[in-house]
Amino acid sequence: MIKRRKTRTVSAGKVKIGSKHPVVIQSMVKLATTDIAACVKQINALSAAGAQLVRIAIPTRQDSIAFAKIVKKVKIPLIADIHFSPERAVEAIEGGAAKIRLNPGNIKSEDDINRIIDCAKAHKIAIRIGINEASIRNLFHDTPQRKRTPLMIREMAGYIRLFEKRGFNDIVLSVKSSDVARTLESNIAIAEKFDYPIHLGLTHAGLAEDAIVPASVAIGTLLWQGIGDTIRISIAGDPVQEVEIAKKILASIGLYKSREPQLIVCPTCGRCRWDLIGFARQVKKLLKEVKNPLRVAVMGCVVNGPGEAADADIAVCAAADKGFIYKKGKKIATVKQSQLFAALKKEIEKYEK
Ligand code: SF4
Repeated sequence: MIKRRKTRTVSAGKVKIGSKHPVVIQSMVKLATTDIAACVKQINALSAAGAQLVRIAIPTRQDSIAFAKIVKKVKIPLIADIHFSPERAVEAIEGGAAKIRLNPGNIKSEDDINRIIDCAKAHKIAIRIGINEASIRNLFHDTPQRKRTPLMIREMAGYIRLFEKRGFNDIVLSVKSSDVARTLESNIAIAEKFDYPIHLGLTHAGLAEDAIVPASVAIGTLLWQGIGDTIRISIAGDPVQEVEIAKKILASIGLYKSREPQLIVCPTCGRCRWDLIGFARQVKKLLKEVKNPLRVAVMGCVVNGPGEAADADIAVCAAADKGFIYKKGKKIATVKQSQLFAALKKEIEKYEK
């Protein structure tokens, strides 16, 4: 059982972020913000996939104008992603952002930061102070590896002081790196030092096939230690996939209760004498239509399969030309292997009634 680290609660529209609330899943729009119709479609797709907050980039004045229109067309709270420009931050807040993500590393002037804080305060919205290793890289010159994390934390502490001095506490923190070890170190350090909610992510992690493992290790490890109140899986690819991975990470450590069916498949070995992988793919397709959290297991052989799948709602395995169906570990049918899929489908349908 994970014991979440105690934090304050910060609101982003209707979404609450902090240890008293479930970990929030975020993603980011990957289209030009000025393409309003396409952005609305992507935001709705992300929301349908399970994202509770969506971030969107506001690099130009035209993007600010488009952003204000997008906000009105979607139901999910939006976070404006701001770099370099205090004007864009103010425009986004006035345009209806539920929260903004600010990278103070590239908004240098204290007056500019204060202007943004005052505007956020007036509109009662939160700000994420998002330190990104890449944006303070110039500070890393001649800094040995072992001193880089303390440097990032010092930077963060300085920004937090600035916000607190202005009487602003609706803050979410993030320190991102593309390095797993530094992500762990720096998040553990800010979690020990501050009680603001933390947004987790491994930045610039790569294409999905390269990013999933390091992101899962970094985010999963921190969550397991009770650190992290909102997460985003950054992959160079479809943002809906980011949400699906985030849900899987959370579900794997008991922080997300999926309403979707789960497919368990044995890894196969020399005892498997049938096309288990092809069969499992067919079952996966079938389960996309299922609307309850069934656990279905497809196992390679009768030697270990039934025992290993004993906690599945329905399990199948096959030997020679026969297929077997089990319910909660008890055999309920023996059919020809060629009829196994149809028989399994029938059993699954019974749960849908
Ligand atoms: S269930 Fe059977 S085929 Fe699959 S890995 Fe276990 S022993 Fe091998």
